[in-house]
Amino acid sequence: MRLFLVCLLCLSLNPPAAAQSKSGPGDKFRQLEEDLPTPNEYRTASGAPGHRYWQQRADYAIDAELDDAGRRITARETVTYYNNSPDTLSYLWLQLDQNVFARESEANVTREAPTFTPPPEPGDEYTESHRIPYATLDRLLAQQVFEGGQRITAVRDAKGNPLRFTVVRTMMRIDLPQPLAPGQNTTFSVEWNYLINDAKVLGGRTGYEFFPRDGNYIYEIAQWFPRMAAYNDVSGWQHKQFLGSGEFTLEFGNYRVRLTVPDDHVVAATGVLQNPQEVLTAAQRQRLKQAETAREPVFVVTPQEAKANETSKPKGKKTWVYQADNVRDFAFASSRKFIWDAQLHNVEGNRVMAMSLYPNEGEPLWSKYSTHAIMHTLNVYSRYSFTYPYPVAISVNGPVGGMEYPMICFNGPRPEPDGTYTARTKYGLISVVIHEVGHNYFPMIVNSDERQWTWMDEGLNTFLQYLSEQEWETSYPSRRGEPQNITDYMVSEAQVPIMTNSESVLQFGNNAYGKPATALNVLRETVLGRELFDFAFREYARRWKFKRPMPADFFRTMEDASGVDLDWFWRGWFYTTDHVDISLEQVRLYALDTRDPGAEKAARRREREERPQTLSQQRNAPLPKRVDEFPTLKDFYNTYDELVVTERDREEYQKFLSTLTERERELLRTGMNFYVLEFRNVGGLVMPLILQVEYTDGTREELRIPAEIWRYNNTAVSKLIMTRKEIAALTLDPHLETADTDLANNSFPRRPVKSRFQLFKERTRPNPMQRQEQKQTPEAPRNP
Ligand SMILES: [Zn+2]
Repeated sequence: MRLFLVCLLCLSLNPPAAAQSKSGPGDKFRQLEEDLPTPNEYRTASGAPGHRYWQQRADYAIDAELDDAGRRITARETVTYYNNSPDTLSYLWLQLDQNVFARESEANVTREAPTFTPPPEPGDEYTESHRIPYATLDRLLAQQVFEGGQRITAVRDAKGNPLRFTVVRTMMRIDLPQPLAPGQNTTFSVEWNYLINDAKVLGGRTGYEFFPRDGNYIYEIAQWFPRMAAYNDVSGWQHKQFLGSGEFTLEFGNYRVRLTVPDDHVVAATGVLQNPQEVLTAAQRQRLKQAETAREPVFVVTPQEAKANETSKPKGKKTWVYQADNVRDFAFASSRKFIWDAQLHNVEGNRVMAMSLYPNEGEPLWSKYSTHAIMHTLNVYSRYSFTYPYPVAISVNGPVGGMEYPMICFNGPRPEPDGTYTARTKYGLISVVIHEVGHNYFPMIVNSDERQWTWMDEGLNTFLQYLSEQEWETSYPSRRGEPQNITDYMVSEAQVPIMTNSESVLQFGNNAYGKPATALNVLRETVLGRELFDFAFREYARRWKFKRPMPADFFRTMEDASGVDLDWFWRGWFYTTDHVDISLEQVRLYALDTRDPGAEKAARRREREERPQTLSQQRNAPLPKRVDEFPTLKDFYNTYDELVVTERDREEYQKFLSTLTERERELLRTGMNFYVLEFRNVGGLVMPLILQVEYTDGTREELRIPAEIWRYNNTAVSKLIMTRKEIAALTLDPHLETADTDLANNSFPRRPVKSRFQLFKERTRPNPMQRQEQKQTPEAPRNP
């Protein structure tokens, strides 16, 4: 390899002149304090809940009936609301999420036109039409006729007197006759009903699925009761309207829920079933008992029984009663199609009944993987955050692709009708169960404001999902988490900062799931190391479990517990759309001039001899020269060689040495090579420099230089490598850990970017005459 070789006596080791001043407004290392909220007695500067932290509480008693024939929920709730804030409240806000399905809802009215995909080959007679999927037209038509929305039939105080209420799209304000003072609580009741949406057609995180083959339904019921909007020290009332993306910001409380359903239905819900004797058969109760000691999931309802139930007709109703303590929401599923399996799982000493409910259409995938994936998730997540605190964890298969509620989640993947499935479906199921069960930790327990900051639950959860997947099997095909999987997004036009409100995020999956999950993985593996990261992350989870953290609380806790200033990291990854692209621009080799005429003049002679002859020099060489024709023109300088060592050189060298101290003479003889590596920050995001050095003797070395190397100059830095060896090659980010978007500028010397290509023939289609011909002579060879 060729390096740019320079001989210098003095080496300047000072950093390059700062192109960007350290304290300037564009400096990537300036502290975040100017952007974060001022710490106060509710939220400390260290990122912990303050000594006067408070949050509201809401307890619910709900009595609901599912009308299978009419696909309607009719219900009544009594809410006890505790004002733990220091503020007096004259009204309360509740969420009416079902109103998102109302025809004139903000979500429907502001929905953009569907994408009419243009034909792939313009002018092609077979595909010249634009296209939309059948499902899109089905949804558009259904939205026009579906009578969705929550019908509030009564709002009363504890004594049964009507209370004034105002519905504002997906929110409802209840005016209190007496202001609710700090420390007081108030009880009121609401009666309502609504038509359940066909989730397969209208979408949504709740709804029913109809099975035409047997005429039955699966109901996954969520966001179904008027829920207290959160009131907190940062936003006051969090009553930002529900537009369909931002999820649910809620208060903790205890739930007592009575669910009346057809008597041949099987129900699964948030919480613990209170009346198994009334709703389960003796055999089912016996099997649940077996599940407490089983080493594999046990069928409580077998596939054969579920199949038989598909032809059953209800004889009446049954009421399933559930109790759930310290949860922020309540959801349930109900169907006569359900297979049900269960296994008691010990999670760090907490006994948790892991259960899955799914129709025969989910087999054989569901009985094999769902409950195992639940138990695996509880193990891994508990290790990285806190012990799963609830008594049950349930995964249900139905129309919803993937959605989480406390203790219960809805997961969509199913095999083909013939029971076969692709790898994508298999891993899709395991991943979605891990993801949705994982949401019990974030945000069901670490109760972040989902309507505002999607990344605080989806990003953290997707990060732990990735860790769990990698502990499921070697080389598990995780979609998100590996830095190299996020690089395309990080250079795309669709990128907005992670710190963007949920409803304004473009590319939800990449922005709120993929990028923050990757950032945390990079923070763990490359910036902090596993030990520091895991300690700090666990500290965040434990500080904020059953509380409501804000972004600053996360950023501050991770710094506070790790002892590492991460402001540059949060700024780069969470507040900007910069990407990582660091270029290894140049390598210079400086060799030390020893001033020893014997060594130095020999070295300079080698250099002179190695210098290539220019083209003109080569062509001029054979030309006859005048000094050869007239030799008298030659003098001293025609034979003088400045690189011959003279006596005078030696004397001067000795004289020079005599002016040096012993230490200075040693330094002159170090024999080191001084390599100066120049880096340029092309993408804007400052990151550590991970550098693999290969020497000509075959040895290797890895340098890990913290991002702080960029603190004087955010765009260009240099790094000195002093070594007695000779460097053969350098690779930046050799383990693909920094999400560097352009690997072509990461190596020295540059290497070709490898790729493969295929030859192909242009397809030709028969013209109408040829097709007519083919019709008449069917044995004629067909044009492929
Ligand atoms: Zn999620």
